[in-house]
Parts: sequence; structure tokens; C-alpha cells
Amino acid sequence: MSYLKPKVVTIGGQPLKDGGTVNRVTFGGDSPITIQTMWKESILPVLDSEDFLFDILRRINELQSLGCDVLRFAVPDMESATALNKIAERTTMPLVADIHFDYRLALACLDGSVAKIRINPGNIGSKENVKKVVDKCREKGVAIRIGVNTGSLPKELYSKINSGELTRAQALLQTAEKEIAYFKELNFDQVLVSMKSSDVQETIDANEAFAREFDYPLHIGVTEAGPLIGGLVKSTLAFSYLLKEHIGSTVRVSLSNTPINEIIAGKEILRECGFRSGGVRIVSCPRCGRVGFDVHGFVERWQNELLSINKNITVAVMGCIVNGPGEGKHADLGICGAANSVLIFKHGEIVHRITNNDLKILSQTADRLFREELNSL
Ligand code: SF4
Repeated sequence: MSYLKPKVVTIGGQPLKDGGTVNRVTFGGDSPITIQTMWKESILPVLDSEDFLFDILRRINELQSLGCDVLRFAVPDMESATALNKIAERTTMPLVADIHFDYRLALACLDGSVAKIRINPGNIGSKENVKKVVDKCREKGVAIRIGVNTGSLPKELYSKINSGELTRAQALLQTAEKEIAYFKELNFDQVLVSMKSSDVQETIDANEAFAREFDYPLHIGVTEAGPLIGGLVKSTLAFSYLLKEHIGSTVRVSLSNTPINEIIAGKEILRECGFRSGGVRIVSCPRCGRVGFDVHGFVERWQNELLSINKNITVAVMGCIVNGPGEGKHADLGICGAANSVLIFKHGEIVHRITNNDLKILSQTADRLFREELNSL
């Protein structure tokens, strides 16, 4: 099957209030596949509270250090546009304004430092309004994503789907084609496209069909994928299939869960599919009745910090000596339970044996020594 190589679309570079610019991110061509997520709360409190703004900026930094390349915010009203502009002028993270129906919200966001707009020309009314948004995007160097979902297809297509005339994947493609036509008419090509379904096969079919016909970079994702486990399974299935076909320039794992977990999931999928390397690889055991060390608690405490570290290493966290020392040998740093002790390995050698009857002290000492060894790598 042959697919078109996606053309290059670049976002970012907008000036920031305190100096510097928004990070540049390139989609398509030979660019690395990027990871994105979406903010899951209202941002309106930033209008009245500097503390709230600082807290959002801190959380954006956390997402950035975990590997988030692009972050999207819903902009349902003018106040949200003002709030988003306030955030956008203080972070190097490229921000996307997600807009439906009202082109004026897009124009308001374009007055700030947003890097991308997600809007569907078909739902913002007249061609003149679409032109106003496109003209301003062109002037500000901002790209647009067309986002088509099976949950919001044009009414006439639902009847064709119900009568069996069209599959839902075909309906997604037809809708995307129609939306693209608005931009073609205006000679605007800084466009990305997403076609999402909550069904894995529909998502695959729509994206494959698109990639055969168009060279716009694809933002891939399974929409409304579900809670953590179900959503992960669906996204992994769809992404691993599409990415192996070299379809998809940017990914979003949609979960009824935190943005942090969406980023970690995206990063792990890309890594296991061979599209990301480097960073900390965590190997940890599932735990069983032989366990002599709180593997789950340790992983829970350390996961986000480890995944934020810019070191190309493997860390093994094992419950007991059955597999612990074995995995520890292959890891740069390992920790495992051994009867009443905890062992820390470095490049296969035991560097600490910690014993204490007080489990709290045992855990605190293990954390401290683990950190010292981690820092020394
Ligand atoms: S490493 Fe030990 S505790 Fe963990 S699953 Fe294997 S046998 Fe069980």
C-alpha cells in the first residue's frame, strides 16, 4: 500500500511577554513524531488569580519535561480566549486553541501567542469568516488543525451511514475532504488533519484512506477511547498499526485520565514502536507472593520523575531475588527486595544492602540511596 509523505507544517516562534519565543515544532516531512495532550479543566480562574496562573505554568512545565510537545486548550467563550492568551504569553510550550462555531474566538486567540488553532471551517459559518481566520493565521504564522470526529459528522452523512451507503470511516474522510476544500480555495496549506473515531478499526481505515489521497500531516488519535486501561489498549492498537505504515505526524492518547498519563502513554507507545529513543526506560515486576519490596509504591513514587530525566538509561524495580538480580544486571540502576533487605544495583553490582525493621525508615533510606546513585549516572 502506498501512502503520501506528509508535507512539512511548522508551528511556534511567537514572541513571549518576558522575552524568548514559543518552541518551534515541525510536523510531517522527516520530523520526529510529536506528542500532545489537552488541558482538562477550566482556565478562567487565571483571569483573577496570579497563583492559579503560576500553578498552571508549573503544571505545563511538568508536562513539558515528561515529553509533551504541544498542549491544547478548549476555548468555549471570549473569557477563555483572554485566559488562554494570558497563559500563552508566559510559556514556551506551543499552545493550541480548540474552537467550535465562533470564528471571533479564533481571532481573539490569534491576538496572543497561540501556535495553532483547531477549528473546522464547516462549522464556523460563512466563507468570509473562514477567510478572516485564515488571513490572520497566515499573518501570524499559525497553523490550523481540522479535527473531524465520528461524534460530530454533518447530519446528512448520518443518514447515509444508517442506510449503509457509507461507512463511518468513509464519512470521516468525506468530511475532512470538504473541510480541506475551504482552505484550498484560500490557498492556505499550513493545515493538519485528524479523523477520529472511538472505534480502532474505523480510525485506522479513515487515516489510511486519507494518507493515500492527501499529504497533509495527520494528527492521529482514538477519540473518547475510554478509561485508562481500555483507552490505552485502543490507542496502542491503532497507533502501532498506523505508525508502522508511517501514518501519523503527531499523536494524542485520549483517556478519561490525567494529561500526564496521556503524555506518558504517548511516549511509551512511540518508544515501543521505535519512533522515540533515549530517556529512562523503567522495567518493573508485576509483584507476586515472593515480594520483599514495595514495587508498586516505589514505581508510583518515582515514575514521573524518572520519565522526566534526560538520561538514556534503564532502571529495574523488582520485588525479589528470583528475577531482581538478573534484571539488575542488564539495568544501569536496579532496586530489588531480598528477604528482609533491599538491594540497590548499579551496572549489575550490588552497591547497597539496606536492612531495617521499620518499613518507613527502610523505604526512606532506599529512596535516598537510589537518588544518590541515579544522580551519579
Ligand atoms: S520479581 Fe519476584 S516478586 Fe516480582 S513477580 Fe518476579 S518472582 Fe514475583
